[in-house]
Amino acid sequence: MAAALYSLALLRSCGAGGVRAFAIPRSSSRALASVKFVPPLRFQPRRRSFCVKATSSEEDAAKAAAAVADTGAPTIFDKIIAKEIPSTIVYEDEKVLAFRDVSPQAPVHVLVIPKLRDGLTQLGKAEEKHSEILGHLLYAAKVVAEKEGILDGFRVVINSGPSACQSVYHLHLHVLGGRQMKWPPG
Ligand code: AMP
Repeated sequence: MAAALYSLALLRSCGAGGVRAFAIPRSSSRALASVKFVPPLRFQPRRRSFCVKATSSEEDAAKAAAAVADTGAPTIFDKIIAKEIPSTIVYEDEKVLAFRDVSPQAPVHVLVIPKLRDGLTQLGKAEEKHSEILGHLLYAAKVVAEKEGILDGFRVVINSGPSACQSVYHLHLHVLGGRQMKWPPG
C-alpha cells in the first residue's frame, strides 16, 4: 500500500555525477512534473564557437586576417577604392564607397566603406576623431537602403574582430535587405 502512495523518480545527482533513484510522495512527483529541471552547467552542452554559423574555414580565415590587421598592409578594399579590381558600385561620395558584396547573404548586400582607412581597421579601433566618418558611414548606409528600395526594412552589420568573423580589416558596414531577417543573428 505504501508503495501505491509513492512513485519512483529518477533524478540525476548533481553532487556525485551518478544517477540515483529517490522515492518521493506522489503529490510531490506531480509538483516536480511542473518544474523545469535545469541541469548544472557542467551537464549543459558547451558553446563550441561564437561564430555559430561560420564554417571552420571561415573562422580560420578570420583569424589569419586578424593576425595581419594592424600591420598597415593594404586590403582588397584598397584595390576596390583604387578601381584596380572591379566592383559594382552603388553609391560614392568624397568620403565613402558602397559596392555589392561578392558573396551576397541577402538579395541586397552592399558594403559601405570609408575611402580613407585612417586606422579604422575595425570598429573596435575607433577613436573620437573617427566620430564624423562613423556617422557619415551610417548615413550612407541609409542612402544605399533608399537607392536599393529596402527602406521598409534592412539590417546594418559591422563585424569587428576575429570572434565576429571579420575577414577584411578595413572598416565596413554590411547593408542587408530584400528578405525577411531573423533574430538572433548567427
Ligand atoms: P567581413 O567578413 O565582415 O570582414 O566582410 C567582408 C566582406 O567582404 C565579405 O562579405 C566578403 O564577401 C566581401 N568581399 C571580399 N572581397 C570582396 C570583393 N572583391 N568584392 C566585394 N566584396 C568582397
